[in-house]
Formats: sequence, C-alpha cells, structure tokens
Amino acid sequence: MPKIANYEIWFVTGSQHLYGPETLKQVAADSTEIAHALDASPAIPVKVVFKPVLVSPDSVSELMAAANNTPACICLITWCHTFSPSKMWINGLKILQKPVVHLHTQFNRDIPWASIDMDFMNLNQAAHGDREHGFIWTRLRKDRKVVVGHWKEAKVQDKIGAFARAALAWADWQGAKFVRFGDNMREVAVTDGDKVSAQFKFGFSVNYYAVGDLVKRIDAVSEKEIDALVEEYDAAYVTTADVRKGGAHYASVRDAAKIEAGLRTFLKEVGAKGYTNTFEDLYGMKQLPGIGSQRLMAEGYGFGAEGDWKTAALVRAVKTMTTGLKGGTSFMEDYTYNLDPANTLNLAAHMLEVCPSIADGKAKLEVHPLGIGGKEDPARLVFDAAAGPATATSLIDMGNRFRLIVDEVDVIKPPHPMPKLPVARAVWKARPNFETAAMAWILAGGAHHSAFSLAATTEMLEDFATIAGIEFLIIDADTKIRDFKQTLRTNEVYYALNQGWAI
Ligand code: MN
Repeated sequence: MPKIANYEIWFVTGSQHLYGPETLKQVAADSTEIAHALDASPAIPVKVVFKPVLVSPDSVSELMAAANNTPACICLITWCHTFSPSKMWINGLKILQKPVVHLHTQFNRDIPWASIDMDFMNLNQAAHGDREHGFIWTRLRKDRKVVVGHWKEAKVQDKIGAFARAALAWADWQGAKFVRFGDNMREVAVTDGDKVSAQFKFGFSVNYYAVGDLVKRIDAVSEKEIDALVEEYDAAYVTTADVRKGGAHYASVRDAAKIEAGLRTFLKEVGAKGYTNTFEDLYGMKQLPGIGSQRLMAEGYGFGAEGDWKTAALVRAVKTMTTGLKGGTSFMEDYTYNLDPANTLNLAAHMLEVCPSIADGKAKLEVHPLGIGGKEDPARLVFDAAAGPATATSLIDMGNRFRLIVDEVDVIKPPHPMPKLPVARAVWKARPNFETAAMAWILAGGAHHSAFSLAATTEMLEDFATIAGIEFLIIDADTKIRDFKQTLRTNEVYYALNQGWAI
C-alpha cells in the first residue's frame, strides 16, 4: 500500500496585487496558519503544504504545472481569502490534472461587530472571492469538491480528509498494473468491459498473463518457503488437527501455501497492484487459489474473481482510500437472501476469496471440496464479517461511460450459526430496506460483485467518482425508487450530451 506520509496536499490561496503588500502579507500569514492547522488535523491523512499566495496569471499557471509534475502532490485545496479575479486562473486550470477541493472558508470565524471597518471587510472577503472562484470552475466545466465552513470545525476537516483519501486512491491508480490470469469467465457480461476506456479514464492498465507462467513461479517455490507460510497460518488462524501436520488435509494446505507464494512472486515481478483469475483457466494448478487470494487481498492487493478486472481495481482503490482506518475491505458477491418479510437479509460471500481484513475475530483455516473448476480441494479462511455500517460498491461499464454504484448497508452478527457453510460471509440489512435497495441496484445494472468495506464512507466514494469524472449513484436511507429511476433516465441524457461516445 502507498505510504501515506509520502503524499501531500497543496494549500493554494488566491488573491491579487490590488490590495498592496501589507494585505498580501496578512493573507499569506493567515493562509499559513490554516494550512498548518489542516496539516495537524488527524482527519486529514496526508501532509498539507502551504504554497505562496497566487496574485497573477503566471503564478497560477506555474503552480498548476508544478502540481502536475510533482508525484507526491495528490490534490490541491484552493481558497480565496480576498478577491482573486478568475480570468487569471483560466490558463492554469486548463492544464491542471490534479484533483481539487475548493475550501470556502474565512480566517475569522466571527464578525467583530464593534470594530469591523472597510479594511477588515476587504481582507476577509472569501464570501465574495470564492464566488468569483467558483464561477470559473463551473464556467470551465471542471469537477471539484466544494467544502463550506470554518476551517477549525471538525466537520470541515473531515470533508477535506475524505477527499484526500479519494485523491490518494486516485494517485495510486495512475500507472497501476492489474494482472489477469486467463480471461473473463465465459459468457459473463458485467465482469467484462472496455479496458482501453478504463486506461484512458482511470489511468491503470489491465493485461493478460499466461497461467502457465504463473505455474512456473509456483513450481519454483521451495519447501522452506512453504514451511514458513504454513507456520504463519498456524499462528494467525484457528486450525484443527486435519489441517495440521499429520492431518488428512495437511498436504492441501501446503499446496495452497505454495500457490500463495508463487502468486506473490509473480505479482511482485510484474509490479501489479491487483489481479483476477478464473476457475475456467487453471491449467497446471492443483487448486483454485483460496487462502492465497484472501491473504494477498489482506496485504493490499485488489482482487476480482472470474476475470472481473473492474472490481479488482476497485477493491485496490477502496483499500487505498481507507489506509489506516478501522475496518477492512474485501471483494464480495451477493449470494443468497433471507426473504422473511420481518427480517429480510442479504448473505454475501464468495466461494473462496473474501479478505480476512473484514473478519470478526480470528478466521478459521479449512479445506473442503469445491464444486467448480475440477481441481483439488482448496484451503480457505472461513469467518463472519464484523458487524457495523458498511458500503458495497460496484463499478460497471455502461458502454459510453463508467458508473459507480454505492449501497449503504448494515452488517449484523448472523442470526444463526452456519456450521455447514465453508466460506467467509457477511450478513447485512440494506438501506433503506431490502426491496428498495435490491430494486435500485438491479435497475442501475450493479454487478453481483462489489468492493465491500467496513471503512469506506459514501463521501469518500462519491469524491472518488468526482475525481474520476464518472457517474455516481447512491442507494441509502433516502433512496426512493421513483426518483432513482428518474435519475437513471436523466443521467442517460446528461452523459450522452456531455461526452457522447468519447471514452
Ligand atoms: Mn463471483
């Protein structure tokens, strides 16, 4: 995962020469203080760096070019302490490729009623300057986040923090490589899509690698490496006699460890941030990777089953944006329902590949047969997901655009034990209710796969969609089907007119 401490947000204040050097000195001092406070805020996970106040077209263009060329700079905060005429921003904004949050704040929280004079008004006129600033962003049709409120408020810092996390995930996607072992599961539509459009729009590449080359890496794994991994399993997970040395399934566990080590070597060689595989293309492999994929996800790799490269990339992005936060993120699949009207529930799982970062307590290492793929019994980690609010997010290819759909859910402790279900799972209640959530998801064309997270908030995901410039749909406590259907229709027209078939 990217080291958060290496990344920065540039704090950029707009002004102009009109006010004279004394005022500009004050603007710089106030801006520095705000930048330092944001830098110290625990809500903002990266450094906030003050940049000299912008007072001319050249200074704007130079700063934007520098931002583009500084890999550590993941986004900009812009703010106009005073008035900053927007024509001077046009050339700079035209070339800027980094995400921006426009902070509409004011240095002083309160109006000093007894002493306020024209000097104070001229210095503290963000109410005026930020409207001019907002106009040029809107006039240029450039997406950004607008955060409103006093800079010391926790709510304001949280909103900037959410955007910074989205920007971090975005930076991580630029130039990222995702590996596909084999292709798409035959005849499946939603997991497929246009990888050229994705590279153009998202900045990551998705390429095919031969399973035979992976098998070569697996075959090269030494007994010592397998010993070390099996020891790690023993320490980290609940085990029973059958999976330990001398047990009936011990050989399967060693085979699984060998696959894990080979996969890790391969991904490191490529420099990949995630991968997909499919049970239809496992030639030369003893098992479909189970525990290996689960543990690689826990290390931060994105994963998508059945060739689902969009979900693999999305899982990586959601893992990146939630770095350091409580609660994990996993590849997930909607599986089966409890349709009792009094307690309608969604049981989500996958046949093997669910990330243990979402586990409630210690996962259990088990070996069971798998009904598909025609391979030997794979080792996998079995657990229940921890209870709490969560998001399930799907990224789909609509043909002329990508669409991000977020479903807010509440994971619960399963109402009954499921001793015969040998997979990791999450049981949740969808918001606002089962019927509306499932209907909205299906009308939106959401996949059966998702990036499921106990840490990612809707705000981070919406900010991520804003940065990516893609369609965003939310299913939450306020969702009403009639409005949702109208949004789908309106969006069709908007995207057709806005970008046509350009991606
Ligand atoms: Mn699946």
